[in-house]
Amino acid sequence: MKFGGSSVADAARIDAAAQIVIDAANRATSGMPVVVLSALKGATDELIRAAADATVGEAGFRERVKELRQQHLDVASELLRSPEAMHNSLSERFTELGDILHGVELVRECTLRTRDLVMSFGELLSSELFAAVLRDRGANARFYDPREFIRTDSGHGSARVNRPLSYERMRETLEEREGIAVVPGFIAATASGVTTTLGRNGSDYTASLIGAGLGVEHVEIWKDVDGVLSADPRYVPEAFVIDHMSFEEAAELSYFGAEVLHPATMLPVQELDIPVIIRNTLNPSAPGTRISNESSGAELITGIASVEDVTIVNVEGTGMVGMPGVAARLFSALARADVTVLMISQASSEHTVCLVFRSQDVAKALRELEHELAPELASREIERFDVQEKMEIVAVIGEGMRGKPGVSGRLFGALGESKISVHAIAQGSSERNISFVVSGADRERTLRTVHTAFFCDQGG
Ligand code: ADP
Ligand code: ASP
Ligand code: MG
Repeated sequence: MKFGGSSVADAARIDAAAQIVIDAANRATSGMPVVVLSALKGATDELIRAAADATVGEAGFRERVKELRQQHLDVASELLRSPEAMHNSLSERFTELGDILHGVELVRECTLRTRDLVMSFGELLSSELFAAVLRDRGANARFYDPREFIRTDSGHGSARVNRPLSYERMRETLEEREGIAVVPGFIAATASGVTTTLGRNGSDYTASLIGAGLGVEHVEIWKDVDGVLSADPRYVPEAFVIDHMSFEEAAELSYFGAEVLHPATMLPVQELDIPVIIRNTLNPSAPGTRISNESSGAELITGIASVEDVTIVNVEGTGMVGMPGVAARLFSALARADVTVLMISQASSEHTVCLVFRSQDVAKALRELEHELAPELASREIERFDVQEKMEIVAVIGEGMRGKPGVSGRLFGALGESKISVHAIAQGSSERNISFVVSGADRERTLRTVHTAFFCDQGG
């Protein structure tokens, strides 16, 4: 059972989450639940800001740490009958955090490694607190540090997990648990015990890793929405809950939508066919969305995802014609720059290649591309890199589109009627996904137009 940041946002929500866990433990017939927690809502962002402040010698980080400390102490006071012991242990953690940030302030440098250490406090704190709340309610609950059993490489900020080794250690540690195990999500360690993190929103991934390692019946991911919705509810109020969908569909949605699930979540559980159920802490009686090997059965599309703030880079020129060599160099340059290409499209004239990046990656990507293609730029075989900023990728996703004509017609027809101009299009041969790029200013209109075009007769 994994509870995300919004499920542990404040005392009331933590109380509700604890009740959900205790009810599940009381009902359990085979083995006690393992609970994976995120940091309190906003805590990770606040820790990142504190580290950034300390790096430039901005004393404001002390105030941030003080407020975070008070927030945690207040939750303990509200939820525990005798909070003193918890207050002491929280205070100790905050003293340690303050010392680390003071070190950053002194050396005016925060490596990714140190940043991981700073971020790890969010999950450590929420989990210790949560375990104490469960015990206060009479449950047998124990805190486990995932750095003892989730082993990663040293790719700080988004480390890669050694799954076989982690599974083995996980079993040694967690299989014999007698009560409820409470585990911080998001954090792990290298072979030499250095703290790493699994990438933003990584707690979902921690939960599926533990689920796969222990071979559980199912993994529950508790959020603040009734399940995976047909589109981002912040932009499409008429979005509805998708009852069930396949791992592939969920992976496509999370890869392109980024927000509702960490994209790696499906990987460990899919191999073992362990279902993942997305549920709502604020509405525990709702059935949620079940992700398994069974596809949604949706007639055409299952859902719509979107990635905000992307940039298009068009590489244009006759040098691209008959381009195997150029393409290889283009992509190895991008690999060297360590940037992910979210979408690629090339018209068959071979005159241009269109690449789409997260905006934060563009400067890095352009630098490396210009370096790699310097000879072609000098000889004008490649004329220029045309850059279009503040764009948005939208993707329609679903197994139902396979082999069915007319999906693109309906999609682009609707966009045309709404006078939304499309800057690039890509469709994988899996036919599970059609992605296109529109201007960021058209985000909401695009999502709503596409939603109406495919779902006008469903949902709210
Ligand atoms: P947590 O941190 O609690 O695990 P997140 O905030 O990371 O949860 O993810 C849940 C949020 O994702 C929702 O509140 C919603 O605003 C957003 N979201 C974006 N796209 C979708 C979607 N298709 N279905 C459900 N939620 C979505
Ligand atoms: N706390 C981390 C984040 O905000 C991980 C997570 O919540 O899943 O990204
Ligand atoms: Mg989150």
